Amino acid sequence: MRLDKFLVNMGHGSRKEVKELIKKKRVTVNDQIAVKREMHIDPNVDQVKLDDTVISYQEFIYIMLHKPAGYLSATEDDKQKTVLDLIKQQDKVLEPFPVGRLDKDTEGLLLLTNDGQLAHELLSPKKHVDKRYLAEVEKHVSESDVERFKEGVTLDDGYVTKPAKLKIIDDKIVEITITEGKFHQIKRMFEAVNNKVTYLKRLSMGTLLLDEQLKLGDYRELTEQEWKSLQ
Ligand code: URA
Repeated sequence: MRLDKFLVNMGHGSRKEVKELIKKKRVTVNDQIAVKREMHIDPNVDQVKLDDTVISYQEFIYIMLHKPAGYLSATEDDKQKTVLDLIKQQDKVLEPFPVGRLDKDTEGLLLLTNDGQLAHELLSPKKHVDKRYLAEVEKHVSESDVERFKEGVTLDDGYVTKPAKLKIIDDKIVEITITEGKFHQIKRMFEAVNNKVTYLKRLSMGTLLLDEQLKLGDYRELTEQEWKSLQ
């Protein structure tokens, strides 16, 4: 990796700013003053210091976002706001992307990372990662809905869903746990039983629980324990 890219990625300024740091001889690589900003370093081997302080290397970023409604789960869009618009510039340098999608009007837990391997594992249909949601619906939910979701329901395109857990919280409020991620899955599952989702919020994904301290639109990096438990 180029030295200037490393410094930018580790949050030490823009390309222009880190060029200045190097010019002012404030950066060393293995205790030698760096003269060329384009020099190549191996961040896992070489020791880079800024003003005598070692810059530790962070390759991956893991962000827990409390997604509000009104944002697309995408990295960019010509017309609409995306979840990346909620992330500060300094947290975007490592180029996190959303792991899977929540609908524009869905709230709740969204993980963003640049760790493609982890994203792949969490999204792989073979891994059956549980996704738990709170849903409010238009009509009363009955025990027969619980049974039907357990057996699998047939969606509008003929697809039969894998068993889903439905826990009745109140007349029209449920917690639903699914292991798949079909397009608009929960909304379509309720349509299959003649009901309609009016509010949807993701509460957890695998071992990762939405931190209820996070206000809508806020985010934080995962703790070491959280990301380790996802591996
Ligand atoms: N199911 C849906 O219908 N929408 C979501 O955003 C997530 C699951």
